[in-house]
Amino acid sequence: MYKEFIEKMYQTFSSAEKPRIDEVTPHRCMECDEVRDQLHPYDQRNIPDKLLIYHGDALPLLSPKALRYYFPRYIEFGLLNQDCNAFDNCLYQLAPHEMDEYWQERIAVFNTEEKAIFREYLELRRTLQYEDLDEEYISKGLTIWV
Ligand SMILES: [Zn+2]
Repeated sequence: MYKEFIEKMYQTFSSAEKPRIDEVTPHRCMECDEVRDQLHPYDQRNIPDKLLIYHGDALPLLSPKALRYYFPRYIEFGLLNQDCNAFDNCLYQLAPHEMDEYWQERIAVFNTEEKAIFREYLELRRTLQYEDLDEEYISKGLTIWV
């Protein structure tokens, strides 16, 4: 059902470079090191489901460059496994509470076509809203990725 969107998304993100291992998570602590060490051996599309379940909340820890590379896989996995927390976290990652330096840097790594995919994704989320709160994130996200 989501196949067409997923293929289009990967195609749109095909210029996203794989981060070097020291570029995956900028912060150094046990959690960030674990995310870095476990995600980095894999290419974007080959990250195993079990890692996406385990690291379903890792998106905020990724560097902007790593976010651009790994986010499409999180989006794909979330759509196909909507009971996993990666699905909710994809939405939060697209609707920041405040536009500080952290978020400005994250938004700046995505090109126009990639931002359009996020808007398309948010519109798709609108058709499968689980909670009223989702709409708040969706409408906010649609104003950010322009
Ligand atoms: Zn950390």
